[in-house]
Amino acid sequence: FIITSLSLISATYYPDFKRHVKTTNKALTLQASNYDQFREIIQISNRNMDNYDVVYYALDLTIDFSEQFITASLLMRFMILEDNTSQIDLNFTNTLDVDFITLNGTDLNYSHADDIISVTLSQACNSGDIAEIEIVYSGNPVNRLNDGMKFRTHAGVPVVFTMVSPQGARKWWPCKDTPADKPDSLEIRLTYPEQYVSVANGLRLETVNNGDGTRTDLWLESYPIATYLTSFAITNYEIFTQNYFYQDQEMEILHHVYPEQYDVSVDLYTPTPEMIDFFSAIYGPYPFLTEKYGHASCTDLGALAMEHQTCTSFDAGYITDPEATFTVAHELAHQWAGDFLTIGSWEHVWLKEGFARYSEALWAENLYGYQSLLDYMDALDNGSPLDPPLQRDPEGSGSHIFDIVIYSKGAWTQHMLRGVLQDEDYFAAILNLMSDPQLLYGNFITEDLENAAENTSGMELDWFFDQWFYQEGRPTYNYTLYTASEADSSYITIESLPFQNNYFSMFIPYQYEGVNGRIFVEGGLNHLVLPGSADSHDISMDPDNWVLDYGFTKKLPVLEELEVRDGNVGLAWREFFDPDIDGFNIYRAAEGGEFLKINEEPLTANFYFDENLELGVTYMYKISAVFAGFYESDFSNSIAVEPVEYAFDQGILLVDNSGNFTSPFPTDEEIDSFYHYLLEGLNFTDWDIAASGFPSLDTMAQYSTLIWHSDDILFNPLINNFFVLKNYLTAGGKLFLSNCRSLETLADHELADFLGIDYKSINNNPDFLGAEGLNGYPAIAIDPGKIPLAAWDNAFAYIYQLSPTAMGEAIYSFNSETDDPEWENEPCAVKIAGDTKAITLGFPLYFMEEEAAYDLLQQALADLGEITLSESQEIPEIIEICLKIYPNPFNPSTTISFSLTTEINGLRNTTTWQAEDMEIVIYNLKGQKVKNLSPSMYHTEPVEVGGEKHYNIIWNGTDQNNQPVPSGIYFCKLKIYRQEFSQKMLLLK
Ligand SMILES: [Zn+2]
Repeated sequence: FIITSLSLISATYYPDFKRHVKTTNKALTLQASNYDQFREIIQISNRNMDNYDVVYYALDLTIDFSEQFITASLLMRFMILEDNTSQIDLNFTNTLDVDFITLNGTDLNYSHADDIISVTLSQACNSGDIAEIEIVYSGNPVNRLNDGMKFRTHAGVPVVFTMVSPQGARKWWPCKDTPADKPDSLEIRLTYPEQYVSVANGLRLETVNNGDGTRTDLWLESYPIATYLTSFAITNYEIFTQNYFYQDQEMEILHHVYPEQYDVSVDLYTPTPEMIDFFSAIYGPYPFLTEKYGHASCTDLGALAMEHQTCTSFDAGYITDPEATFTVAHELAHQWAGDFLTIGSWEHVWLKEGFARYSEALWAENLYGYQSLLDYMDALDNGSPLDPPLQRDPEGSGSHIFDIVIYSKGAWTQHMLRGVLQDEDYFAAILNLMSDPQLLYGNFITEDLENAAENTSGMELDWFFDQWFYQEGRPTYNYTLYTASEADSSYITIESLPFQNNYFSMFIPYQYEGVNGRIFVEGGLNHLVLPGSADSHDISMDPDNWVLDYGFTKKLPVLEELEVRDGNVGLAWREFFDPDIDGFNIYRAAEGGEFLKINEEPLTANFYFDENLELGVTYMYKISAVFAGFYESDFSNSIAVEPVEYAFDQGILLVDNSGNFTSPFPTDEEIDSFYHYLLEGLNFTDWDIAASGFPSLDTMAQYSTLIWHSDDILFNPLINNFFVLKNYLTAGGKLFLSNCRSLETLADHELADFLGIDYKSINNNPDFLGAEGLNGYPAIAIDPGKIPLAAWDNAFAYIYQLSPTAMGEAIYSFNSETDDPEWENEPCAVKIAGDTKAITLGFPLYFMEEEAAYDLLQQALADLGEITLSESQEIPEIIEICLKIYPNPFNPSTTISFSLTTEINGLRNTTTWQAEDMEIVIYNLKGQKVKNLSPSMYHTEPVEVGGEKHYNIIWNGTDQNNQPVPSGIYFCKLKIYRQEFSQKMLLLK
């Protein structure tokens, strides 16, 4: 009603509110840090100051610009408030000297220490007595850091001014320096070089040229004024004068500006009469209408501007800022909120700053319309943590007086109060506050605003002021909408989450089906009815952002990955945030068809099995939450699934998850042939992920066991679709994993639970020599010939430490080359205990010594139920062994001949032993493996001689790559039934 009554000016420039807020916040932060540096000085308690009330101050200052020296006197008239008062205290800096203090012309005793003057009155006074003392003082005012009386220059010309907020008046005059004690009036007499111009609070009553190069001006502030709002400034000012009319009253607006800035100052201040009109409409007539308003330019003010009563100080460096007009509005609004109504204590500083900061937004709204108000508020909540409460320390003396919370959250609190009361009541309440006869020209506190708001609106508002003034934080909201096509209303559940333990209640505006409304949301869970029909899902919560919150999240049911069993599908979904729902509906679509509800009543459990599905058909599922009988939430995510038949009849799927790298790393072919050797004689099928992608569930379902290896030393993601592997394992598939640098993703992945492992860490140092077998697994060593990097010497890096969970058990423990206690004997491979479904190696099988790798995999496949081990039968006892090498020495070839007599179950024989049971390997003198001559590798057939089985194996003096070896001593090692036999031989060329 007020906002729109004023003309919108046509503006080509739309202000950059974010930049403006940044500029002003930066200035505040600087003020706060300056304040922090001298706060101990002003925290000296105001000792005997409650025993009197100031009625009137008269200051008389003579200012020597060249010496930066003042000679001054203060007359203070005051009323005694307590009987038998014989001493009063005043705040006054120790950096100035008190020359004498008199009462009715008689000298008084006093002390002056710790920035306090204690005056002993000549006789004890009683409550109601009026007294008047005069204090004569002089000195060089010291402005410590940023406040006090400052001597500066501009364009080479001296300027003197005062800037004392919040508690620095005592730095240039003795006073009772609290906003709570405003004198009825105050005069300032200034004597200064005649070529200059002075300005101070109120009206200039007289100016006299003293004929000695000086001039004396008498300024009178005839309204009550707080000490921190008392100010003067002197330099070669030019005066830009405007006339302001209010009804039949006329008032001068005097802008004291630097001559060198005259034009830019005129540009900045020209809208002042329009602004006074605007704020008069909101806050009531300008309170100092019989005096003046205006600005005084200062250099190095210590703030961007300061709302000195009737005479705002403005930093000359800020005058050209494109958004300075909003600071002009801010300080003008302070003439009502701060000067006319002064905060009762600094605890309530947000009240004046919240009003003034919000007035900037109101001025923007007036100039540019409603959206600019929203933009302004958004800028105030941009990058500033506004969680602390407006009221922090009740003494109100901390540097937080200047902090961004006071200003920005203060403005937001005004904005939210306007939102809660709505425009008509809010502006009426503000006007009622500003015209309260109990308050005018006096003090106000937060409760006065609350009372005005409550009395005007009829609302009880303790909750509002408690949560924004005293509490910290802001709410976070979750909500969901429930609709029903047959209903003419909808339900909404809104959860107002606390900040720490603070709960918030608020009116939340919304827009639903194009209609604006609002709902009262209390802390916790709220179920509310929204008018408006049907199945519209288009709701916008707090679309214009009237609530200082951490946002609204629309909650939907969440369908988890499905479980694909043999021919049916298990669906599971998460717990919903709204515990008061009736349950869930499930919708299914077959082959891209229409979604149809498949349940009768809402399902109260969080899972469901959908049976009798057709194989080869793709089904889609999604769910909704059901509230109040038949209202439904929006749908969850949807998931597609194809039922699978788990045949498990094609043996092993050998999944190659390694990359294809070049030397020194093994190639795909080398790794493949290694595994082919290990799996010789078994039914297996190759699957190369690099070529064909991750195998589908449908593919996996054909195989009873997956051997999945990522054995090169570069990182390969273990899996990209856990859902597939989980379903395969759940349905009864078996998994053997060999790994190097692929398990990191298991650290916090539920797949780890399926493998029975608790991922610990990876050892990036080459320290792994091999592993000790546990639970029936053979010991295994790194194959030194396969170490890819010379720097690794003979140990391997990138080995995992994996602890078994309750359902797992370790099958290998780490053999550390350096006996590193963090790794030595720690588990590095795990299987699911009992009915083993999965085995995970924390080391790459490819790099292990081949025969042991073979034994390991045999044991693993037996555990997984894929094969039956012959060793599971009783191991034969070796009774006699014959190992002959002839000729020896030899060149170029020799024959290794052996036969064996064994006994099992008391029966001796010489033919039942198998080639697969034995291993023959040639080593050189250094212990390096030269060639594997095991009969199973070369399909060597035995010969029978006299009823005994013999093997005759020829070694032609070449290595594994069929290259001739040099002359020298070699060893032939025969391993069988866990015993080892060795023969020396000599190659002579
Ligand atoms: Zn302010």
